[in-house]
Amino acid sequence: MAKNLTPSVIKLFSLYKDLPITHVLLLLLCVTLTWASLDILNSIDAVKNHESKTKEISINLNSENKSLQPELVWISQKINNGDNLSTVFERVNLNALDLIRLINATKIANLNNVFPGEKLLFGLTSAKSLQEFHYIKSKTERYIFKRVIDQYQVEHRIAKPDKIVNYRHVVIQDSLYLAGKKAQLSDQIIMEIVNIFGWDIDFVFDIRPGDTFTVLFEENFVDGEKLPDEKVIAASFNLKNNEIIALRYQNSSGLVGYFTPQGINMKKAFLRAPLDIFKISSGFNLRRKHPIHKKIKAHRGVDYAAPVGTSVYASGDGKVVDAGFNRFNGNYVFIEHGGIYQTKYLHLNKLFVKRGDKVLQRQTIGTVGSTGYSTGPHLHYEFLVNGVHRNPRTVSLPKAEPLSGQTRASFQESTKDLIEKLRKNKQSRLEN
Ligand SMILES: [Zn+2]
Repeated sequence: MAKNLTPSVIKLFSLYKDLPITHVLLLLLCVTLTWASLDILNSIDAVKNHESKTKEISINLNSENKSLQPELVWISQKINNGDNLSTVFERVNLNALDLIRLINATKIANLNNVFPGEKLLFGLTSAKSLQEFHYIKSKTERYIFKRVIDQYQVEHRIAKPDKIVNYRHVVIQDSLYLAGKKAQLSDQIIMEIVNIFGWDIDFVFDIRPGDTFTVLFEENFVDGEKLPDEKVIAASFNLKNNEIIALRYQNSSGLVGYFTPQGINMKKAFLRAPLDIFKISSGFNLRRKHPIHKKIKAHRGVDYAAPVGTSVYASGDGKVVDAGFNRFNGNYVFIEHGGIYQTKYLHLNKLFVKRGDKVLQRQTIGTVGSTGYSTGPHLHYEFLVNGVHRNPRTVSLPKAEPLSGQTRASFQESTKDLIEKLRKNKQSRLEN
């Protein structure tokens, strides 16, 4: 393949021949991008010298602006912390009168209240008068001001993104997180998978190499550009002898949840593993057993080895009945959940709650540490039912009532394709 490359690139290539080809390609991409951006910078410099001595002027060449009038000179500005519209106007050397005209032109776009990260586009005539102005709130929403004599007319434009449903079938080898990344799933989707199945699966102890999951997720595009919001539409998790299916459903009042095909809410009273498993799973090796788990005998809880500082969550809604320090437990939190259940969290590094506090499920109550009688950083977690210790990993918990009546009919109608799609995608992968 080196045949088609220019000599300088061949030189680069030989310098980095020890790197994997993907790294070399990335490097080449970086070099190309740098060249391209230098080019753009040069042309901006030309504009700058001609126009004014302001800094931070850049011309936005991406797809969202391809419909801009070519006869105008376009300047793009990003709202930074501490900016307001007049500081930006000063920066690009524009007339304060135009600013007042813009503000007076509309009550719907609140130009007195711009936010960091939003963008402004200035379209100037050759006489440097502001002919057109875009207030870009997001990739899908902008206000366009067009000059008509000495006033501006405003148009509020909302782009409707194209929705595309994508899927992945993922085989877990080392960790859920790494497998997800390898399958090019975003952190957001992997996190959603963890949240959707976190009531049924203990992602620290239940996952074995070879376990799989299939996920259908929705991506949004505007002008061919992907928006950051994605969502899981359906997913199935396949543990050794167990398949769990979750389907997204929005009821008539707009409430969104994930349900089993039988219409039972995935959300339950208790999380299986009450800590930020993302922190663990990114480095956690499934094939290696951690030592703390084996050593302690007559053990009445579950130990999760995790880095110091990993967030520890309340596994369910409840009330803190005790929180403090002693030399056995270290820093600890005890939570009571509706009189029958109690959960205990020991050896914490930091405590974020105190006795009497009400806590919500997945609320961070402290961080993993190694305080008290502990051989290394871990969370010791206990689960009690009517004062008796139970194994939190296997204890059966009350199930929510399934959807019924009209809601159930609507649920089944709107999700019946999803189950079929999940199955088909899983099947096609297995055949490949
Ligand atoms: Zn323990």
